[in-house]
Amino acid sequence: MADTERRFSRKIKLGGLVIGGGAPVSVQSMTNTDTRDAEATIAQIRRLEKVGCELVRVAVPDAAAAAELGRIRRTISIPLVADIHFDYRLALAAIEQGVDGLRLNPGNIGSAVRVREVVAACRQRQVPIRIGVNGGSLDREIQARYGDSPRALVESALQHVRILEKEGFELIKISLKSSAVGPTLEAYRLLAEKVDYPFHIGITEAGTRLRGAVKSAVGIGLLLSEGLGDTLRVSLTSAPEDEVFVAYEILKSLGLRERGIELVSCPTCGRTEVQLIDLAEAVEKALAHIREPLKIAVMGCVVNGPGEARHADFGIAGGRGVGLLFRRGEVLRKLPENQLVEALVDEVESFLARKDHDSA
Ligand code: SF4
Repeated sequence: MADTERRFSRKIKLGGLVIGGGAPVSVQSMTNTDTRDAEATIAQIRRLEKVGCELVRVAVPDAAAAAELGRIRRTISIPLVADIHFDYRLALAAIEQGVDGLRLNPGNIGSAVRVREVVAACRQRQVPIRIGVNGGSLDREIQARYGDSPRALVESALQHVRILEKEGFELIKISLKSSAVGPTLEAYRLLAEKVDYPFHIGITEAGTRLRGAVKSAVGIGLLLSEGLGDTLRVSLTSAPEDEVFVAYEILKSLGLRERGIELVSCPTCGRTEVQLIDLAEAVEKALAHIREPLKIAVMGCVVNGPGEARHADFGIAGGRGVGLLFRRGEVLRKLPENQLVEALVDEVESFLARKDHDSA
């Protein structure tokens, strides 16, 4: 997959983050705190940063929320995007507060004079605008003409794009989201024939943690496998940190990004004599802080485990009362079952410390 040719897209920059133009597909999320509560919002963004979120969007429903953006921006380390609906004054306030990007549909903020004012402020500070069209909120005229089709999403996005282009503004990225995988895919394919702005991809309102992760993996996975997508958000009815986790798992499975551990664990079978599900979860939790890409195996039996997981950097294989700690298929030691996780973590940490030391 890593070899799939990606669609050519222009490069834009939000703060220090490059999107499009062949940059790595970036991972973003959105806070679900009340933006007016800057402390809570900052705390949530800090948690998102820790799990690898590279861009964060906050809702800006009113002037009080807009007034907190500067403080939030100064305190966090990733670029901040203000999500604005309808009110151009909020867009101006957000830019004034120093946000790195706007999510705003120019056709929804009123007269050409207002659009011009927002565009002028964006241009001056080099703040890109994401045009975001959702299947659920299409304008009536477009819907009457194209129904609920992928074409309707594309035409709607193009209307907004033209408004910005008319002002000579091209720091644009576009999202076309539907809660169904097929139409989303079709819409992005159509749009890719029309413009070369970077794409923000995702399946909107994908659902709760597990269902939403599956639906997003299928939808986003299909888009990426066609080379479509420059930045992505997994939308889940769950904590935003879960969105980032799922996003990386999708990107890692396609070989597009590397981050943290890749867990290889066996499905268990009649030979399993340990509580493998608990063991795998304990390992995942204990190594959640690791950022370096490492393949870790958790296998159910000592007979087949190390062999089956010979490509893993480190692994454990459970047996009856005892288990093996192995590295790339070679057994390092045999240990009582209840010491396996700890020994694995020690092994991984000393390996990483040696690596750091050697490269210093
Ligand atoms: S590693 Fe062992 S326990 Fe796990 S599925 Fe394979 S044979 Fe069964």
